[in-house]
This record gives sequence, C-alpha cells and structure tokens, in this order.
Amino acid sequence: MVSLSEQQERAAPAPVAATVAWRIAAAVPDPEVPVLSIEDLGVLRDVAVDGERVTVTITPTYSGCPAVDAIRDDIVLALTAAGFAEVDVRLTLTPAWTTDWMSDAGKDKLRAYGIAPPTGRAAASGTGPIRLQMAVKCPRCGSLDTKELARFGSTSCKALYECRACLEPFDHFKVH
Ligand SMILES: [Zn+2]
Repeated sequence: MVSLSEQQERAAPAPVAATVAWRIAAAVPDPEVPVLSIEDLGVLRDVAVDGERVTVTITPTYSGCPAVDAIRDDIVLALTAAGFAEVDVRLTLTPAWTTDWMSDAGKDKLRAYGIAPPTGRAAASGTGPIRLQMAVKCPRCGSLDTKELARFGSTSCKALYECRACLEPFDHFKVH
C-alpha cells in the first residue's frame, strides 16, 4: 500500500495519514445508538491510505441492519471533508461481526445510554446440550429480575426487555 512517489513528498507520510484517517473514520457514530462510534462497536476493521486514496473496511453488526448505508455515507463525508480525494468503503462479512468486538468503553457508553450491553461471550454460547441463559441486568436499577418481551426490539440488533423490579422496558443488545 505504501509506495514512494513524488506525490508523497508534499503529502503527509503514509503512516501518519493512515492514523489520521483511522481517527476520522473511528469518530463516525452508529446511526442506531449515536453514543457509540463504529470503533466502539468494533465495526471499523481497517483503514489503508495510498496517496490521496483511503480504503476503509467495515463489518456491519447485522447484515439486515439498515444502518450500513448511513455508516458508509458518513465515512465518505467525513474523510472527504478532511481532504482525502478518494474514499472507498468496503464491507467484509467474514468473519461475521460479534458482540465480542465491542470495546469495554463501548459497553459502558451503552449502559449509560440505557441499553443493557451484551454479557458473556458469543463464543461460549454455542448450541451444546446445556444452554446457559445469561441474566440480563436492568440498565436503570441494576436488577437481574428481567424478562424478554420481544426477540426484536426497536431494531433487529436489539431485544426488548422489561424489568420486573422497576417495571421499566429497555433494549438489550443481543449477543451473537
Ligand atoms: Zn429496573
């Protein structure tokens, strides 16, 4: 990706440009949960700079999430505004996104926003003979006495829960 050309003598050195481009792309918010950036979610996978061209690789949370187009547009807009002449956003679906990629900072922000973050590890929730049902904590009062009302909440990425202690309904970001 990094090639020496006359162009690069006046442009920033490629490693610096890649760091700048990563920071700009990383600040793009998730359209569904605007307190989370695509970096918090682990959706941002790679940023490569070649001259004035930047290639951003993302893995959407769910293939059915309508947020993907919005994220793509936001990345292009932000990087174009920062002076990158050509922005290419690529989707990679393998390996599939998992909640394991969500950063701890992202989980904290999710909790503060009132959405129960995913608990446990997707890798550990396989289809063995014994299925461990993780208790979902109410983001409002912290009670574990909660029940799932609907598998699909406000979006396909979230399930709708209700807290039996404070009677508050809340979204739970599903582990997958
Ligand atoms: Zn509660």
